Amino acid sequence: MTQPTHVAVVGAGPGGYTAAFLAADLGMKVTLIDDAPNPGGVCLYRGCMPSKALLHVAKVLTDAKEAHDWGVSFGEPDIDLERLRGWKNGVVDKLTDGLGQLTRQRKVTYLQGRARLIDSHSVAVDGGDEATKDVSFDYAVLATGSKPARPSALAVEHPRILDSTDGLDLRSLPRRLLVVGGGYIGLELSSVYAALGTEVTLVEMTASLLPGVDADLVRVLARRFGKVAKAVHLQTTVTELQPDDGGVAVRLEGPQIDDPVQRFDQVLLAVGRVPNSDIPGLVDTKVSVDERGFVTVDAQRRTGEPSLFAVGDLAGEPMLAHKAFYEARVAVEAIAGQKVAFEPLAIPAVVFTDPEIAWCGLTESQAKQESRSVTIARFPWGASGRALTLGRPEGITKLVVDPESKRILGVGIVGIGAGELIAEGVVATEMGATVGDLKQCIHPHPTLSETLFESAEAFLGLSTHIYKPKKTSTG
Ligand code: NAD
Repeated sequence: MTQPTHVAVVGAGPGGYTAAFLAADLGMKVTLIDDAPNPGGVCLYRGCMPSKALLHVAKVLTDAKEAHDWGVSFGEPDIDLERLRGWKNGVVDKLTDGLGQLTRQRKVTYLQGRARLIDSHSVAVDGGDEATKDVSFDYAVLATGSKPARPSALAVEHPRILDSTDGLDLRSLPRRLLVVGGGYIGLELSSVYAALGTEVTLVEMTASLLPGVDADLVRVLARRFGKVAKAVHLQTTVTELQPDDGGVAVRLEGPQIDDPVQRFDQVLLAVGRVPNSDIPGLVDTKVSVDERGFVTVDAQRRTGEPSLFAVGDLAGEPMLAHKAFYEARVAVEAIAGQKVAFEPLAIPAVVFTDPEIAWCGLTESQAKQESRSVTIARFPWGASGRALTLGRPEGITKLVVDPESKRILGVGIVGIGAGELIAEGVVATEMGATVGDLKQCIHPHPTLSETLFESAEAFLGLSTHIYKPKKTSTG
């Protein structure tokens, strides 16, 4: 028997559950389909949430170690891996159970299983032991997310070769771990394992960690990360992985590599993610998929098939949960007949390392690439009282400013708590604030948020805590 619904949502990660909940709140009949017992997707089950729980533990360990410099010693930490895993899993369970409850409270029909498109108005849900259920819909929102990429040289299945999901499982603590990829996941998980006592070697194919991110911000992170990791090899690739009972023999190629075959206990692959656009039946619709596997969408997130929308990682870069939340709202509001478009000026990005790096809007490197004329205003955290009281003066806050209008086009921050601070940058950029507007806003003292305010003052040459001698004419 076919179950009719107004909106079917395929995939219950941040994009999918947001779409389903908003559609229900707007009075639509909604069916949400996912193979997990509760909504949550990669973000809650094996991404953002477990990694942030573990990064919090890493921070506690680092802070305890560094307290020694301030005259407080805690001794060597004793790590009970099982309890740590239990705590992290408890956070995940609490969050996903909560989403299950919100699903029921909103009367969203939740079908556990794999979706298969029958045509542009119906989907079959294969639910394990249960009989296949057919759902007919007026509209569907596809939100199937992404999965870890596995280039052919690294396509080796073995318990010692981990992807991000395995890495977050924390089954054991290897003595020597090789992390392949110096992007978001490689750096975040390296930080966790290094804090827990593992010797981490990281290899990155390009000439920099976090390729594409502004070099001045990355430099600050790289300096500290270089001390935490055993080794960081840039412009280096892995050409062969040979796991055996005792470890993994890895062949490395790069200018800094003296010993081309090295052994590690485990290897963690973090070389990017690919969209899950291999939804059965999708090829028989008018939906088009680009060469990287992203579904092509318009400003309302509508695909080439008028009844089908796509949001989140499936619908293109950046593959970030908060972009998915926002796109999901746009898609559902479009279904509800509202005049909406996905046109953000500033999608924030945060790398939750120590220190964190965060940016939004136009970056300095993007401006350079596009030959756009911008003025950069920087405030070094060495001049921030709050940063000094925290023992972390290495940060930088910078504004990317339009030299004509003085509008803030983007913000970049490296330093502890950058991920929280960037929200003010998003508001300033989206609201079209000028540096003068930011300077007019009283910021609480002593906080790291003052670095945004002082960057605006620095732009105007009036920063209280930076002294710039006036140019004098020597005639
Ligand atoms: P990424 O694109 O951030 O980084 C992958 C890195 O691997 C790149 O620096 C790339 O140059 C390098 N690389 C690729 N092939 C390689 C090879 N063969 N050898 C060595 N290096 C190689 O990808 P990721 O870290 O896997 O994360 C995937 C996506 O997940 C991110 O783009 C991001 O959108 C999302 N994510 C976000 C967060 C966050 O918001 N904090 C955290 C984790 C993941």
